[in-house]
Amino acid sequence: MKKVLAVFLILVFGGIFSAPPVFAENVIYNVETKKVHKVTCPHAQKCTKNCIKIDRKDAYNQGGKPCKTCGG
Ligand SMILES: [Zn+2]
Repeated sequence: MKKVLAVFLILVFGGIFSAPPVFAENVIYNVETKKVHKVTCPHAQKCTKNCIKIDRKDAYNQGGKPCKTCGG
């Protein structure tokens, strides 16, 4: 039974670590100041009016600049 468990664990963990990320990395982008924030950034959490959640690549393509607090 121990061998079966070991094979099972290899399959599970091997699957996790070899799988490519399935989600694009979202950031919070302030369309007014053009600041790019991590989703967890306190500024992003306070920003409700001019902020949108978009892909990091798109935010920088639109002229976004990294936030000084969270680094974008
Ligand atoms: Zn920030």
